[in-house]
Amino acid sequence: MSITVCVVCGDTAEKAYPVGSFDEFKCASCGYYSVNRQLIEEMEAANQVFDTERTQQYLMIHSRQGQVPAITRVETTKHRLIVENA
Ligand SMILES: [Zn+2]
Repeated sequence: MSITVCVVCGDTAEKAYPVGSFDEFKCASCGYYSVNRQLIEEMEAANQVFDTERTQQYLMIHSRQGQVPAITRVETTKHRLIVENA
């Protein structure tokens, strides 16, 4: 674990070891989740961020199945999780 910034809410989070093409984060507000690494890089390059409220809601719903929810490009499009960084 290393300390990082939560890509969902911007608070301090813990970053676990990368799993495949995903980075796992543990955040006090957003819970335990993983994000496709390429997606994070593409969003940074395009100056985009996650919509905190929508994404937290998405993570909450998908955590119920007892597994770490994963955020992929397909999910961000389907649930409109990405906004332009103002
Ligand atoms: Zn967070």
